[in-house]
Amino acid sequence: MNSPLEILNAYIKRNNLRHTYERERVLEHILSINGHFTILSLYEEMNKDIPISRGSIYNTIELFLKIGLVVRHPFAGAEAEYETTMRASTHHHRICTSCGAIKEFSDQKFSKAIKNRTFASFQTQFHSIYIYGLCKKCQPKIKKTKK
Ligand SMILES: [Zn+2]
Ligand SMILES: [Zn+2]
Repeated sequence: MNSPLEILNAYIKRNNLRHTYERERVLEHILSINGHFTILSLYEEMNKDIPISRGSIYNTIELFLKIGLVVRHPFAGAEAEYETTMRASTHHHRICTSCGAIKEFSDQKFSKAIKNRTFASFQTQFHSIYIYGLCKKCQPKIKKTKK
C-alpha cells in the first residue's frame, strides 16, 4: 500500500494540480492526530506553527476526502468531524442521534467478522462500524420531551 504522501502526490500529478506546501503540512498534521478533528480544531492547532486560513484547510480536507485520505463522520453535531483513514480501521464509533456526539470503541470480534467478509464487485479498504443511539446526556432530555 502507498503512503498517504505518495497517494496525494500521485493525485496532484494525475490532475495537473499545483504542488502546495500547505497541503503537505495539513497532511502531516492530521496524520499526527490520534482522534477526530474538525476544521476549526485543525485551524487553531495549525496556526500555532504556520499561518494558514480556514478556507485553505477546508479545501485541503475536501481534497483528502475525495482521494480517500480522510473520512467525514455522518451525523456529527454542529461541526463535521473527520479522521484519517489510516487510523479509522482500528476502531468503531457510537453516535448520538440527538446531539451528534461521537465516541470511539474497539472490538476485535467485529473487526474479524468484517475482515472475513469479501465482496465480488467491491474492494474493501478499511472498515468502521457505527452504532446509533442516545448518549448519557441526551437520554433524560429525550425522555422528558416524550412525557
Ligand atoms: Zn447526545
Ligand atoms: Zn474515530
